[in-house]
Amino acid sequence: MCGIVGVFGTPYSFQEVYQGLLLLQHRGQDAAGILSFDYDSKEFHHYKDLGLISDVFSPEILAGFSGHMSIAHTRYSTIGPNESKQPKNQIDKKRDIQPMMINYPFGIGMVHNGNIVNYYELKKYLSEEKDRHLFTRNDLEALINLLSDGLSERSKTTFSFDQLQLSILNIFERARGGFSVLGLLADKGLFAFRDPHGLRPLILGERVLTEEEKVAHPKHFGKSYCLASESNALNFLGYTPVRDLEPGEILFISDMGEIYSSAIYSKLKKITPKSCMFEWVYFANPESVLEERSVYSARLDFGKNLALEVQALIDSGVIAPDIVVPIPETSRVAAISLSETLKIPYREVLIKNRYIQRSFILNTPESRKRAVQLKLTAIASEIEGKNILLLDDSIVRGTTSKRIIEMVKEAGAKEVYFATTCPPIKFPCYYGVDFPDPKELVASSRTIDEVAEYLGADKLIYLSEEATKKSIGIKGNGENLCMACINGCYPVDVSSAKVFQDMRSFHRE
Ligand code: SF4
Repeated sequence: MCGIVGVFGTPYSFQEVYQGLLLLQHRGQDAAGILSFDYDSKEFHHYKDLGLISDVFSPEILAGFSGHMSIAHTRYSTIGPNESKQPKNQIDKKRDIQPMMINYPFGIGMVHNGNIVNYYELKKYLSEEKDRHLFTRNDLEALINLLSDGLSERSKTTFSFDQLQLSILNIFERARGGFSVLGLLADKGLFAFRDPHGLRPLILGERVLTEEEKVAHPKHFGKSYCLASESNALNFLGYTPVRDLEPGEILFISDMGEIYSSAIYSKLKKITPKSCMFEWVYFANPESVLEERSVYSARLDFGKNLALEVQALIDSGVIAPDIVVPIPETSRVAAISLSETLKIPYREVLIKNRYIQRSFILNTPESRKRAVQLKLTAIASEIEGKNILLLDDSIVRGTTSKRIIEMVKEAGAKEVYFATTCPPIKFPCYYGVDFPDPKELVASSRTIDEVAEYLGADKLIYLSEEATKKSIGIKGNGENLCMACINGCYPVDVSSAKVFQDMRSFHRE
């Protein structure tokens, strides 16, 4: 998962994408980059590096940008080199950072959030049939080459939205996976597109320019537009969310300030939208609204619906929790409604060291184990002698949950029950979330009781698949949600995923 943001129309576009990116830091912490295009000088400016956004961009570096349109990216790698494999190879790690650029035709820069399942097939196609060599292991490079190829064939010197649209439709035909893309075309405008199933989010917002902006950018169009992975970035920057891009939609904002859009592909192909359910479960910021559904409200409903399952166990005498304890941060909202519905006290007795990164997206077992030990402290005086109902958003590998249960038991808990607002994750994700090889997923080959035993929990309670769909509650009665990591029903062909899986395992070993 990654965070992307693009701004068109204000002379401060690069500052806005920087600030918007800070609001998306939770979506990726490996690297960050910005690309801007200056209408007056006809120049691109870009900078990217490994690390957190605030570490990558100093005020001096930001001062070197200019331009009325910019795109930015914060990276969470699901494939590519890591420390354990190539400890000193900074060159390979830096090579895969976005934005990516290609000079012909026009000058194209792109960022994306997602994964292309058939990347190796595309790489072979580009090499053997188009004489294009890829320099990185980042699947975005395959997309930018496909776009470059399409535009080169259709527009040697002239340009139109139709040409852009046809080139992106060709990408939809060839690339399988989940992806949201933002791009700049030098001297032409900003474009965006979303995969035909809408697996990865992308939201459009707009705002009226200030008088100061109009003076600073005489060729202004009165408005500025922002596209981002989540609406929290739009809110922070003062943009009014207009709408989610539709699955398979192609949007272009020209340098004349005109907006072109087409969403015919998914309609003609009768493709059912499939938003990633894990956005509401874990990834998205609680302030965000995706597909017109508030993440905060969905998490409240996770807690309410989970309470029905917990209450049945209490009524039958299987468990007798004294307090509900959220595992910070994501489960906090659901734990409040779980506690309210059960009428059992809510207690924050696991205290997070806020300066430690989220452990799920650290990508080696060593780093995850170390992070769990460092990031939480249990308040023993509030735990001792009590039956504790812990709540977490999800269980992926089980490493973190196991260590937390140990910690709560060491603090003197009588019994520890573990509940989660996501059904058992049994299958890998090939669309941009690093749910790894099935053998690393704790629930892939165990029953619920066996997972409980592995974790050391006295009882393990998962939110059911139906209750998860009901809680998220977007249109389509759950039909419009991807739940492939839960039920193995992949909406996009994953027949070429074996190569992807092998490469991911190779880089994650
Ligand atoms: S497989 Fe799971 S994590 Fe991946 S897109 Fe589908 S719901 Fe999201």
